[in-house]
Amino acid sequence: MNDAQELIPAARPVIGEAEIEAAVRVLRSGLVVQGPEVAAFEAEFSDVVSNRHCVAVNSGTSALHLTLLALGLGPGDEVIVPSFSFAASANAVRLVGADVVFADIEADSFCLDPAAVEAAITPRTAAIMPVHLYGHPAAMDKIMAIAERHGLAVVEDACQAHAAALNGTPVGAFGNAGTFSFYPTKNMHSLEGGMISTGDAEVARTLRLLRNQGMEKRYANEIVGANVRMTDVSAAIGRVQLTQLHGWTEQRIANAAYLSEHISAPNVVTPIVAEGARHIFHQYTVRIRGDRDAAMASLTEAGIGNAVYYPTPIHRLKPYWEPDQKAGRTWDLPETERAAAEVVSLPVHPGLSAEHLERIVSAANALGEQL
Ligand SMILES: *Cc1c(COP(=O)(O)O)cnc(C)c1O
Repeated sequence: MNDAQELIPAARPVIGEAEIEAAVRVLRSGLVVQGPEVAAFEAEFSDVVSNRHCVAVNSGTSALHLTLLALGLGPGDEVIVPSFSFAASANAVRLVGADVVFADIEADSFCLDPAAVEAAITPRTAAIMPVHLYGHPAAMDKIMAIAERHGLAVVEDACQAHAAALNGTPVGAFGNAGTFSFYPTKNMHSLEGGMISTGDAEVARTLRLLRNQGMEKRYANEIVGANVRMTDVSAAIGRVQLTQLHGWTEQRIANAAYLSEHISAPNVVTPIVAEGARHIFHQYTVRIRGDRDAAMASLTEAGIGNAVYYPTPIHRLKPYWEPDQKAGRTWDLPETERAAAEVVSLPVHPGLSAEHLERIVSAANALGEQL
């Protein structure tokens, strides 16, 4: 890297003055645990999910875990999950004692392949968990039709996909429930945090009980629950970020459009946007045809942040691989394996300048001569 060239980071979490002021305001109020800020954040976030009920928790992983509990999933149930995702998707299934069944992804969208989902259904299948990976909505029209035909629950892992949509319906508003993460590198954050959206008032109430020791009224515990509450400090920060989400998302979409228009190296395959999809580009992920390690080294040399999400598909991670090996169970996931070997994500965040975008394009196009 040329000394004059600053590194363009792969992600750039925002903690601005407004976030700091909101946090200080809550700290000075003395009401820091789950309180009025959390309730306001839930009400405001419901705008993002077609006015569904929203329940805030302390992380995206907790959101997934509690949702599966609230839907009554547990031992003996199978949940169909893509292996090409962050481990949290499958971990939530295993945390409730249910079995993970991996299904392959579509080559173009990187999301669950509806045909593979259908083929993975058994008499024990209880739910499908599509992941809107990189901010691209999964094929929810087809997945919902399969779920209805077989009487299955659908839990959308929308942890990377705030305000993504398919045919005008936002993610998190298709399935029985949707889950969002507010981890710092996500499109908006609350330091740590998560949100569940659901159209079912009963499920929403169960989620509120589960996040707070099973209590609605203090010390009148109705069910067994945990403590996965969001603090009011996090909610206040999340509320500030939510006011920026629309503008930031438009900027991500514009940055992605610029990159796709100008990256022309034949061995760098730019991402697609499926018909009817609003891809909100949590990640801008290309496929490298050729030596990916060399490509990444060359991008780093040019000062372009880059990363692989995810180099090891979940079914190859130890807590999944070892029991499967023992049981003699194998998965046929050719597109998952190919994606894990080929993908690289380039910076697309709203903090990029025009000059940053030009530098990313020229570094990507230089790979055409190098690989
Ligand atoms: C980030 C993420 C999660 C987990 O969210 P946390 O807030 O980090 O717990 C789950 N699934 C996917 C696809 C994610 O990207």
